[in-house]
This record gives sequence, structure tokens and C-alpha cells, in this order.
Amino acid sequence: MIVCKFGGSSVADAAQIKKTENIVKSNSDRCIVVVSAPGKRNKQDEKITDLLYACQKLAAAGADFYPVWNKIKGRYLEIASVLGVTSAISSELDIVEKKFAERCTADYAASRGEYLNARLIASYFGFEFIDCADVVRLGERGEILPETYALVAARTDSSKKYVVPGFYGKGPDGNIKTFSRGGSDITGSIFAKAVKADVYENWTDVSGIYTADPRITQNGKPIAEITYTEMREMAYLGANVFHEEAIAPAKDAGISINIKNTNRPDDAGTFIRAGRDSSDIPLVGVAGKCGFARITVCKSCGCMKDRLAAYGLSPAFRLDGIDTVNIFVSDPGTVDWKKLESDLNVSCMTGLAVVGVVGQGLGCCCTSAVKILAALQAGGVSVRSFNYGGSAVSAVFSVPETEYEKAVDIVASLI
Ligand code: ASP
Repeated sequence: MIVCKFGGSSVADAAQIKKTENIVKSNSDRCIVVVSAPGKRNKQDEKITDLLYACQKLAAAGADFYPVWNKIKGRYLEIASVLGVTSAISSELDIVEKKFAERCTADYAASRGEYLNARLIASYFGFEFIDCADVVRLGERGEILPETYALVAARTDSSKKYVVPGFYGKGPDGNIKTFSRGGSDITGSIFAKAVKADVYENWTDVSGIYTADPRITQNGKPIAEITYTEMREMAYLGANVFHEEAIAPAKDAGISINIKNTNRPDDAGTFIRAGRDSSDIPLVGVAGKCGFARITVCKSCGCMKDRLAAYGLSPAFRLDGIDTVNIFVSDPGTVDWKKLESDLNVSCMTGLAVVGVVGQGLGCCCTSAVKILAALQAGGVSVRSFNYGGSAVSAVFSVPETEYEKAVDIVASLI
């Protein structure tokens, strides 16, 4: 059995939904289809999820939410009319409109993007609809509660086909609760684990995970194979094709994840699995983020966690020296760094980018790390810190933000 999840761009309009239909129906093993809300149809377009959040904000403030709601409603009705399934969603749209007027929560509002799309696609495919509010149980912090897997298994029958909305479940108070943005990937992974799928296909608009962000460098290329651990590090460090929290359920159940392109279904895509032979390919990718600050603290000053929290800062990671420790935080843009330096008796460096190179070959010997540093130096990149050995599969370094793209380009050329 295959669980497949289609992201927002794959279900953004009727033409895209027809492509997903061809994909799903070309293999009878594709039994469970998890869908996102309609995403952008082009660069200037708006995502339905963003519109739903905006609409809820207006409704909650007692303002006129109808202009935004009419845009949302218009998009669903347009898709439904082309696919000939208007009756499947018109009364559902009325219910959601009423909930906005009654000032529904942001989580409820956002979840309707997936809910309405799954209702519509289920009707178009002729598959059964499963509401995730009935089977996905989430804790206070949005963690997946263990009973979820038994509930999904009990609700599904291997001889039937289903369409499922991603992104939400039911929270401890009995109300709808969403995952963080991009969370439909997690729903797909939950279903894959619960039904013991042979593979979890994650369909998007690129032919797999790239070794480096193609928007930054032309040296990036699709990765054929990456391990769960490497993928989690890539996602944490900024590669945002696949949600980092979506790895765990599939990994627990030993299910391979195949990232594929709805617009080029014959491309092999990327396989994420437990192991790979790294003798020829020690490094798999480079990813990073701008907007970091480094806070250098004397170890004798004691624990800084609470004092930094008072400034709205939480450590992303730290580098320990003998007498000092460097704490890296993401810069919210609202901190008075001069005041923080004098209040806490620390020194700060802002405007940093953090870049991570990932690959299980890094852990075996320092050859790759040495090559990376040499190439960065030869390219004139001012490396401010380099952390090797903290993780078996990654090396993380920081550079001035202005040199971020150059650093990624140089490292990508080594992979
Ligand atoms: N629609 C949600 C978002 O835009 C969740 C998802 O697409 O995975 O974040």
C-alpha cells in the first residue's frame, strides 16, 4: 500500500488536481491520498491558508471579513465547477462562513483549507473522505498522541481508497488543532506509519530534495538518496521541501519516503530511508538560514537561558570553549543589542548566517571538513565559527549574512 501526500501547488487548481488524479489512478497501490489546501498558482498568487488566517483575524476583531472570505470561497467554487463537484462543497462553505461570523479560532479557520479541499477531491476521485479530527489526536504542544495510530488503523480498510485532509487533528480540549506551517507532511507520515505503508510518497513541485537551494546556487542537484537523520538535519538547517517533524513517524515504522514532482511524475525524486552507502557520496547537502546573532558569554556568568528568555531569545545551538560559550540565537529584530550587552555582561555579533553541511561521510574522518574550510577560505568567505564533531552527520559554520550565498555556492560545488 502507498500513502501519497500532495502539497499545495499540486492541488492549487483544477488542472493540477487532474494531474494528481492521473498519478493516483495509475497505480492501484495508491490507497490513501493526503492533501494540502490549495497553494499558489503562480508567484503573485495567495495561498488559501494565508487567506484563511487573514480572514479569521478580521472576523475575530469584528471587522468585515467578507472581501477575504469571498476570495477563498471563489477559489473553491471555481475548482469545484471545473471538476463538476460543486454539490460536494457548497453546503460545507456555508458552514465555514457561519463559523467565521461566530469568531472561530485561528486553528479551526486554517484547518478548513485542507478540509474543504479533501472533501472536494474525495468527491472528484470517488474515494471516501476521512476527517482527521476523528483520528489524529494531538497533545498540548501539538505532539502526536500514541492513540492516533490505532485510531487511523481502525478507520481504514486496505480494500478501500481514501482522501484525507492534512495539517490538523483534535487537541486535548476537543477542538481542532493544527500542526505548524507545512504540517500536512506530518499527516502523511502518520497515515503511512498507521497503515504500515510500503512507501510514503510526498508529491511537490520539485523533483526531490536538492543538494543546495536552486534559488541560491546553480551548483545544486537532486539528491537520489538521503537518510532520515541527514534529512532531519537538512530540514532543521533550512531546507524546506519536507517538514522536519514529518520524518519521525515514517522512520519509526521503517517506511521509505519518496519526494516526487507532480509536474514531472516520471522523475525518480529523492528517497529518504534508514541507510545509504556513503563511500562514494560522503556529503549530501548544504542548507542554511540568515538572521542569527552570536552571544559570547563567560562561563563564570552561569546559566543564561532565563536571562535571554527575558529578551525573547532562545538558544538555537551553542559552541563551548574552555572559558566561554557562544550561544547562537535567531534575531527577532526587536532586541536592543547594546543594552543586552551591558545588562548581561556579554558580547554580541549580529547579522550572521548559519550554514550546515550534511552527510554521514563527515563523521568518519575530517577530510571533508578540511576541504570545506579550505574552499571557503580560498573563496574569501570569513568563517566566524566552525562546529565539527558535534553531530555525526553535519558540520555547522557561521558567516556574515552578506557572504551567505557565496558560502552556500562554494560548498554546493564540493557535493
Ligand atoms: N496548508 C498548510 C500551510 O500552508 C499546511 C500544508 O500545506 O502542509 O502551511
